[in-house]
Amino acid sequence: MISLKKNEQLQAVEFSDLAPLLDGRSKFLILDRDGTLVPYSPTPELAFLPPRTKTVLSDIVDHHQAQVAIVSARNLKSLQAEFDPTKQILAGNYGLEISFPSGQKFVHPAATSAVPLMAALADDLAAIVAQYPQLILDNHHYSVCLHYHLLPPHKQSHVAALVDDLRLKYSGLVFHDLPTSYEAMPAIEWHKGRALEQIALQLSLAEQDIFFITAGDTEADEPMFEWVNARQGITFNVGERASAALGRFDTSEDLYSFLRALLDLKTPPQQHY
Ligand SMILES: [Mg+2]
Repeated sequence: MISLKKNEQLQAVEFSDLAPLLDGRSKFLILDRDGTLVPYSPTPELAFLPPRTKTVLSDIVDHHQAQVAIVSARNLKSLQAEFDPTKQILAGNYGLEISFPSGQKFVHPAATSAVPLMAALADDLAAIVAQYPQLILDNHHYSVCLHYHLLPPHKQSHVAALVDDLRLKYSGLVFHDLPTSYEAMPAIEWHKGRALEQIALQLSLAEQDIFFITAGDTEADEPMFEWVNARQGITFNVGERASAALGRFDTSEDLYSFLRALLDLKTPPQQHY
């Protein structure tokens, strides 16, 4: 189901209710990956991009229905392996590294300088994983994430203490305590809103002429919602959660249906006189 906020209350709508907003405007789709395009799985490797989602995203670009950007916590290399880098803008590590269909690439200088420190931290975290095999380490090169949702609760405080030691050792990095993981990032103020700023800058986007549409599912996507809301676009949270998003998709399946409908949206032919 798709819902939109009206007087702060979410109300169910049909795609046809949104069509007037979308008609005849240059559109830019900005999508988070995990939990948004792809439902969560017990381990990140199992959460693969469904082939039909990959297809619809490519078709949207081929049919000039919208530009598409994927903005994810995963690294650029893994996004490039599953999406089409010649069609979609791919922003990995929350946009610290971005590739453009033109071949243009952006890497934040602070991310580059943090690589040696990040690699050393990844080694230390791997040593913790060797002690606690239920932990999952995601090394994204410019950031690392240690997932503990499969770790029995009585072992979680041991791991928390080990991670606390690493916070002291790696004071040149920033640690984020996420709901079921610890994440380390380069020590700069960075979020997905900054990623969108960078994309707009690199592409010299005429923002006022573009209708931005975005979907995400966690706190990390809120800066993206704020950026798009500030540009009079439309924002969707996937699932139930307090959010600045103006609308909601109940599930990733609803987002997929939206993308299909967007692909089939007939834009009135341009009049030439
Ligand atoms: Mg997500």
